[in-house]
Formats: sequence, C-alpha cells, structure tokens
Amino acid sequence: MRENLLQTEIKFLKGVGPKRAALLEKELNISTIGDLIFYFPYKYIDRTKFYKISEIDPNLPYIQLKGKIIRGETIGHKNRQRFVAFFSDGTGEIDLVWFKGIKWIKQSLNPVKEYIVFGKPTLFGNRINIAHPEMEEVSKLDEKINFSLQSFYNTSETLKKNFINSKAIHNLMHNALQSAYGEIAETLPDYILEKEKLLNINDALLNIHFPKNAELLKKAQFRLKFEELFYIQLGILKNKVDREHKVKGQIFNKIGDYVNLFYKNYIPFELTEAQKRVIKEIRKDLGAGIQMNRLLQGDVGSGKTLVAIMTMLIALDNNYQACLMAPTEILANQHFDTFKDLLHNLGVEVALLTGSSKKSERTIIHEKLLSGELQILIGTHALIEDIVEFKNLGLVVIDEQHRFGVAQRAKLWKKNFIPPHVLVMTATPIPRTLAMTIYGDLDVSVIDELPPGRKPIKTIHYFDSKRLRLFGFLKQQIEEGRQIYIVFPLIKESEKMDYKDLEDGYVSITRAFPFPKYTTTIVHGKMKPVEKDKSMGLFVRGQAQIMVATTVIEVGVNVPNASVMVIESAERFGLSQLHQLRGRVGRGADQSYCILMTGNKLSNEARKRIEILVNTNNGFEISEADLKLRGPGDIEGTQQSGMPLDLKIANIARDGQIIQYVRDFAIKILSRDPLLSNENNSILKKELIKRNKSDFDWGIIS
Ligand code: ADP
Ligand code: MG
Repeated sequence: MRENLLQTEIKFLKGVGPKRAALLEKELNISTIGDLIFYFPYKYIDRTKFYKISEIDPNLPYIQLKGKIIRGETIGHKNRQRFVAFFSDGTGEIDLVWFKGIKWIKQSLNPVKEYIVFGKPTLFGNRINIAHPEMEEVSKLDEKINFSLQSFYNTSETLKKNFINSKAIHNLMHNALQSAYGEIAETLPDYILEKEKLLNINDALLNIHFPKNAELLKKAQFRLKFEELFYIQLGILKNKVDREHKVKGQIFNKIGDYVNLFYKNYIPFELTEAQKRVIKEIRKDLGAGIQMNRLLQGDVGSGKTLVAIMTMLIALDNNYQACLMAPTEILANQHFDTFKDLLHNLGVEVALLTGSSKKSERTIIHEKLLSGELQILIGTHALIEDIVEFKNLGLVVIDEQHRFGVAQRAKLWKKNFIPPHVLVMTATPIPRTLAMTIYGDLDVSVIDELPPGRKPIKTIHYFDSKRLRLFGFLKQQIEEGRQIYIVFPLIKESEKMDYKDLEDGYVSITRAFPFPKYTTTIVHGKMKPVEKDKSMGLFVRGQAQIMVATTVIEVGVNVPNASVMVIESAERFGLSQLHQLRGRVGRGADQSYCILMTGNKLSNEARKRIEILVNTNNGFEISEADLKLRGPGDIEGTQQSGMPLDLKIANIARDGQIIQYVRDFAIKILSRDPLLSNENNSILKKELIKRNKSDFDWGIIS
C-alpha cells in the first residue's frame, strides 16, 4: 500500500502546480491528494440521457446534447461582445453563447469534431440558447472512468475566477483517482465490511466521484457515511469507556440531614414524577463509584433548579462541597437568591462569585472555600479561574450547557484530585441524533413533564401593521396586574443598528405607556452589571410593568407574574431562541401569551418558523424542526460543543437512523473489546488516533 500517496502535496498532482495548489488550500482547505479525494460532490446529474434539439423547451433543467458546431460568430461591440456557436444534432439547431473567455473558446472549438454539450436551456428573444455550456469532445471521453452520473463540486467565486470550477475539480479528481485507485488503504476492518456488506474504500471513493450507476453511488454514499458516523461514535464511546476505567468517582452513599430535613420541611412543593425519576437516576450514579457525567434535559420551566438543589444536598450530606455555574450574571444572581431562600433554614452557607464580585469579597470566598466553611458556590465563568480552589469539591452543576464548551467543563473537572461529579442542565431540548453526537459522552436524563397547574402558553402572530391592537392588548393585561416583556433582536452586541431598534422601541413604548401610570425598564448587554441589576430588580419586584430587553433575558430569568412575551422582529430569531424566550412566561397560574411581531413580508423559512411556534409548545418537536430547517451547525449550542459537526458526507439531521445504528454497533464492539486490542480491531484503533488528532483534545478530560 502506498500510504503516503494520500499525503502527497496537492501541487504535485497532474494539472495543479503551485498557483492552483495555493488557491485550493486557501479556498477549500485542500492541501494533499487525500484532501482532494475526500472532497465530495454535493450533487449528481444523470448524464445517460441525451436530448434531441427538437425536443428542447426552455423550461428544462440541465440537459445534454450530442452534435457538431456548424459555424460561429462574434456579435456586438468591443466591451459587450458575445460569441455564438450554432450547434446542430440533425434534429434542429440551438445557440451556444459565451460572454467571457471568447478568445479562448473560439480557438478551442473545432467544427470537425463531435461534442457533448451540457447546460441549462433558456429563451433569449425567440431563440433557445445555452449560455456558457460545458463542452466535451466525444473522442476524448475516458473509457476507464466512464460515468453516467456526473458529480458537481462546490467551489468559490475566487476559484471560478481562476478557472477552477466544478468541471475543473472533476478533472483533477480524475487524475487523482487514476493514480490512487486500488492504492488507498482500507479504513474499516474486514469483518465490518463483510457483515455490513459495505463497498471497500477504493470502490467507495471511485463511485462517490465517478458513479458507474445509481446503485453503486448509493452504496458508496452509505459506506462513507457509515464510516464517518461510526468513527465519531466509536471515539466518543471509547473515551467514555476509558474514562470510566481510569477515573474512580467519589462515592456519595449517604442520605443525611440536609436532604431529609429539606425534603420534610423546606421543599416548596411536591416534586413532579419526572423530577423524582431524575433524582433517582442521579442518586444511582453518585453511589456507583464511577464519576457521574449526566445531562439533564428539561424544557423551560420544568423545574431543573430543584433537582440541582437536591443533588447538591446529597453532596453536602457526604461532606463535599458543590458549585453551580450559570452562563450570565443575571442568572447566577437569580440562582443565588433561590438557593439562599430555600437553604438558609438548613444553615447551609452559600456564596456568589461573578465577574463583578469585589476583591474583598473574593478573598473571603477563596478562604472559605479552602477551609470548607463555604459549602455551595454559585457563579459565572469566574468559577473556572484557577485561583478558585475548593477543599473538597464533589459536584459541579452547569446550568444551560449550551453556553459552555467541553473545554470549560474540563477545567472544572480539575478542581479536585478525584474529579467531581458533573450534572449539566439544559433547557434546549436537543434532538436525539444530535445529542448522541454532541453529548454522546454523557448519560441523559429527561424531565418530560411540567409542574402541575400550568396553562399552555398561547402564541399569536401579529404583523407590524397590527401594532395598535397589540398595545390595546398589553394595556388590558397590565390592568389585570400582569407584567410584560418586550424583546428586541440583538444578533451581535456590536451592531449599532440593533441598538437603534432597541432604543427606538423603548422610546415608542414609553410614549404609548407613559410614566407615571406605567413604568418601563430596559435591560441590555451593554449596561454595567449594577445598572442591569437595578433595572431587573424593578421588574422582578413588580415595580415596573414593562421590561424592554435584548436576549440577555433569554436564559433562565424567572418572574412568575410576567405573562406576556412580545418578541419584536421575530423573523430574525431562530426557532430555539424563540422557544427559549417564550419560556420566560407561563411560569405562574395565569394564562400567558407570546406575541410574535413581524414585518409584513416574510421569507418562506421565517413563515415556517413562526407557524411551528404558533402550533406547538413542545421543545423537542421544535428542536427537530429546527435541525431540519437549519442543519446541525446552526443549532443553538452546538458550535462550542467541540464536536465535529461539519461532516464531509453524513448529515446529522437526515442520517439519524445511521447514527443510531453505528452507535449500537460501536457499543457492541467496545463491550467485547474495550481496549480495542484484538488483532481484527487494530484498524479501528489506528483510525481513531488519526482522526482524533485534529479534533478536540479529549485527553484533558479523562
Ligand atoms: P427550569 O427547568 O426552566 O430551570 P425552574 O427550575 O426555574 O425551571 O422552575 C420553574 C418554576 O417552576 C419555578 O418557579 C419553580 O419554583 C417551579 N417549580 C419547580 N418544580 C416544581 C414543582 N414540582 N411543582 C410546582 N412548581 C415547581
Ligand atoms: Mg433554569
């Protein structure tokens, strides 16, 4: 096997050279022959069918003709010239037109030769023409790589300007495979190929670029998707297995006074069945002698905080400390208040550490953490800093996981010699297939039930032209004692435009709802924490009826008396973000409303998003829809996950079945051979090492 063939620099490939190599590297990240061969087409067009010119009408998509050029003519003045070749196949005549590269095309076309012409017919005046068609001399067609389905490759504007279009890449691929076919080392063990009836790697790669027929193309696609997804799952699961072997978890086997007293005297309500079940799952982990890494999924308002509190009390009962990390100061503050409220009767010491904690406070916190006097620490990213050291940290709770990356989780691990148990809570329901990939190393618990007595939120869509009606409705709600959020999109904190929207919005709202009858506060990311807290405070205490805000309130804020969420320019938000925002209301006993304001003209996609939101309150349904609409890379929270979602051929939204299949497959292999030390698994081990090199360094969390 010529293993290093694939590592050969792309500039040495026939037809490339240094200049093209630099372009390919810069634009497509292709620097070796192997990179090129693993650059897959995005579509295929059936080229078995030839049309007759007499059959053509301008509504046809891309078509293929076979015939000869009768004559050519340059038309027009200097800067506006076009070249027209009159092409005939015996059944009729059609115009082939070039606006650019005229000189070159005039030289290269030969009236004696037969050509295959490929392009999209359009009507120009009363004649049908094909502009900038692909031309191929019939005599030059390669027999060995004889294709019937032509593959198309994404390129870039820069590449096209330099004549590296899809066709050119196709040609390079031809050159690459001419030397590489048969020489590429197999990447899956024989027993898997046999069992799954997969194409070997050479045939898979040949047919993905030059499919002999539709069936082989399908097989090639399946083999390559299988491989891509399989190695992701195998990698994730292997790490999990290794970690569980290596890391002994602290054993929390006691349920003591803190849990018992809290449960008996201070718990504010009966736990829901789902909360009970999840707490049981957590307790099982904590007592098992392995380190817990559990993801707790539960829709907004499902009561994850109470689960966190109970889990922390278990840690305390076993003489360990616990901490909770929240993504924003607002949220950390709010958790701090909740914890203080619920736990002060138990005599538990709780402290808050954020970016705005004063130096003197910090010093005290640091000391008390080391002495063990401080039992629960709540905070933001400030918790991760190396200076924050614990006497005996046993549990880390991370709220709203999607804001934190794997790397940050890893830092918390290091805060104790034996890593603490980790409970990650997220309100972003993640479709199963995606969860298997980005949180594949975590065990998952789901709270699939809301506390009793909640009325489903009514979601209504208003076009901007209905604004007066909106204001009328809001006034009525305020009369009834309710409070209202009005949220403006702020995609990037730096965008001036967005702030203008927010400020204009604030002005028009204070005009429609004048002080002193109404009080309106404003909260956004550019405010100093002190000001932010002051504004929030007014709203939380019910002294302001309206809060105008950016999405800083998206996560976790809890004001049960707020029953209306107005989202301005709702078409600019993503589905899961809209759902998160909506979750800020519907927390009390009253009927709540979410009102989506949009411009009068909506794109199809925006219209779909709004429709989905109006029709369902179910976070899981919404996230599935989101995944389908946007693809995995854009789903909230996946960017920082550190997992490779930018896949070469598989698609996490569409290939869910394969993901499940390969995951089960990988689990079976690892249960028989956890170290992958069997002879016939040696390829697996080698590939894992190769593939993991460039990805996130999982080593640091195991
Ligand atoms: P989230 O899962 O979004 O973090 P929270 O933990 O903030 O939800 O809980 C939402 C609201 O529901 C809070 O006001 C909380 O006090 C209340 N809650 C939590 N559990 C229950 C329960 N079992 N019964 C009634 N209300 C509950
Ligand atoms: Mg929460």
